[in-house]
Amino acid sequence: MKLLGAVVALLIAFALGRALYEYQEGDVDSQLAAAEAQLTAARAENEAALSATVTVLLANVDARPDGFRLHYSRPHDPDYVRDQRLIQEWGFLEAAIDGLNSILVLPEQVLIVLTECGEAEAYYLPESREVWMCHEVLKESRSIWEGFRPRPTEEAVNLGMSGVFAFLLYHEVGHALIDVLNLPITGREEDVADQLATYILVESGVERYAVQAGTFFANLPAEAPFWDEHSLGAQRSYNVMCWMYGYDPVGNSWIVDEGRLPEARAERCPREYEQLRTSWGGLLKPYRALVAE
Ligand SMILES: [Zn+2]
Repeated sequence: MKLLGAVVALLIAFALGRALYEYQEGDVDSQLAAAEAQLTAARAENEAALSATVTVLLANVDARPDGFRLHYSRPHDPDYVRDQRLIQEWGFLEAAIDGLNSILVLPEQVLIVLTECGEAEAYYLPESREVWMCHEVLKESRSIWEGFRPRPTEEAVNLGMSGVFAFLLYHEVGHALIDVLNLPITGREEDVADQLATYILVESGVERYAVQAGTFFANLPAEAPFWDEHSLGAQRSYNVMCWMYGYDPVGNSWIVDEGRLPEARAERCPREYEQLRTSWGGLLKPYRALVAE
């Protein structure tokens, strides 16, 4: 009886122990499951919070008031609709603005607008800090190329137009930088802006755009009067050719060989280009983005 009692006690103890063990095991499992559920919830919460934070950050970056920004106004003239489509397919404005924002930090926003202006111009408006790239100037450059004989192909006409557009954009960017960054210049601002345009184009490896701008200036239908703030079209053309030659006298020897620049000016161009590179490089250095360091 005593033995039976002991066995029963043992069995009970065993059963109890097993039950306890199972209870503990079950408890650990349920605790683990609860912990996992909490962890999953926390992760989901964190991910949602992280995602919300990233969204806010991106929105802030997008809404950041500084730097160059782009706006296409809606043209009405069918020719301008076509030209705008060309410019958008080309993607130049977007790429140029991304490039500028990746190398320069501006304290202000500068809005670049492709728009109809009523005259063949490109402007920088200091009051609103806007660059207006006018459809009319694209039309003017198109008609200059279409007037060449033999008549160039449509592709050549579009290329010519694109080069002029690129040059004029960086020219206006030059005015914007001088204003927004209070850059000290003592020469004629129009020439200094032409220098920046040439500098950016040749250093970016797209000097053919500078050639097209030089061709455009040399063929402008109406010369600016002597008192105009711009140099005469022919002078602007020779300047651009000079700086391009100065950038690479060997690679660009064709400029002198083909009579686009007289030797008397060409021999001083390497020094002129070096001077403009050093000057613009020094002026912009304090505003270079860290990524460019
Ligand atoms: Zn200008």
